[in-house]
Amino acid sequence: MATLEIRDLHVSVGDGESAKEILRGVDLTVKAGETHAIMGPNGSGKSTLAYAVAGHPKYTVTSGAVTLDGEDVLAMSVDERARAGLFLAMQYPVEVPGVSVSNFLRSAVTAVRGEAPKLREFAKETKAAMDALSIDPAFAQRSLNEGFSGGEKKRHEILQLEMLKPKIAVLDETDSGLDVDALKVVSEGINRFHDGDPETGVLLITHYTRILRYVKPDFVHVFAGGRIVEQGGPELADVLENEGYEKYVKAGA
Ligand code: ADP
Ligand code: MG
Ligand code: MG
Repeated sequence: MATLEIRDLHVSVGDGESAKEILRGVDLTVKAGETHAIMGPNGSGKSTLAYAVAGHPKYTVTSGAVTLDGEDVLAMSVDERARAGLFLAMQYPVEVPGVSVSNFLRSAVTAVRGEAPKLREFAKETKAAMDALSIDPAFAQRSLNEGFSGGEKKRHEILQLEMLKPKIAVLDETDSGLDVDALKVVSEGINRFHDGDPETGVLLITHYTRILRYVKPDFVHVFAGGRIVEQGGPELADVLENEGYEKYVKAGA
């Protein structure tokens, strides 16, 4: 049973004089079988949480703990985190000219599985995953994230999810910039990943309630001022849809 545990997490950006605390004590547990949504206003620290869990060097964990099945995630390298079963899709993925999607996927799969997949099987697997996401086969030869449209970036994230089969997936603003058709394809991909394996958990970070019509959360957490200020079930998303974040912005300040 995969469990991601975040305990009293404090995270800063910048160093020395300019260091600024962004996360001010986050507690969250995501278990296999569960879908959690983190919602909140812009600038509340949602992406900072994802980056800190991903091990991004710009984000310094000043106190608190993150564990996956009891293992200390914060002590792991980025690759070790992936191998342990964490998948993190970032709001702003990096562009890597000269590395094709196909090569990137193959090295990611190799890193996670601990051995290189056989070429023919890998090609088959990639094609099936791309078909399921309505991705044009030519996409596999494109340079990683270079000139990708918003929709292509998001489909690529879900393609990685399908191929890497992590235990816990953290998806940051996977829905932003998607038209309704792309949103459906991406949501179906997330649902296929999650429903297809009861051992997987999803942490979906989003500013908008729209994607929650397709990906049903079991728990909704509201972020404001670098902390969780409210928690509830799926009905909380409906409240947010109607009332916005205004009252939480005040509460989190
Ligand atoms: P959200 O994803 O909820 O919109 P972020 O985590 O991106 O929020 O940002 C939270 C706060 O941290 C913002 O005030 C933002 O300006 C600040 N911040 C985030 N990353 C950095 C960074 N690398 N350098 C300086 N400030 C940052
Ligand atoms: Mg579930
Ligand atoms: Mg963000």
